[in-house]
Amino acid sequence: MATYEIRLFGDPMLRQRAHEVTEIDGRLAHLASDMVETMHAAPGAGLAATQVGVDKRLFVYDEGEGGGPRAIVNPVIAESRGEWTFEEGCLSVPGLHWTIVRPKEVHLVGYDIDGNELSIEADEYLARIFQHELDHLDGILLLERLDKQTRKEAMRTLRSRGLASRGAPGESTGL
Ligand code: ZN
Repeated sequence: MATYEIRLFGDPMLRQRAHEVTEIDGRLAHLASDMVETMHAAPGAGLAATQVGVDKRLFVYDEGEGGGPRAIVNPVIAESRGEWTFEEGCLSVPGLHWTIVRPKEVHLVGYDIDGNELSIEADEYLARIFQHELDHLDGILLLERLDKQTRKEAMRTLRSRGLASRGAPGESTGL
């Protein structure tokens, strides 16, 4: 087990659409467990492969409800419903949070790390994690989900920090 360095805002890897995973094997399982360790160390509730510089459609998450960490391979949101407002953060934009409205419920399909098909109905926090991580795999950062004015202010803040400082220890809203 090893931890990765999390890529930060400004890294071109975060703007790329990741490629589909073509083989779910031991190497992918190893990558997923290292990503879980990286996510827990951050600490965060979700981490996409692109955030650690790996061009694969894979993310890990741990909503902290006792379900334990899980990995999702080649995730697709098949359906989304409603609206939910949440104060969202990102491990690649540490220390900053914004109130973002997104669909409240999503139906996510994909594969687990053993290659079994998955179909998950997620609501509120879990649905938010899924949408945030899927955005990462499409090269989209949460800044792009802000309205124009808020985004302008966010960019100013990021620039004034010379990017961004590390999140405070104990902060766990990063995704
Ligand atoms: Zn993120």
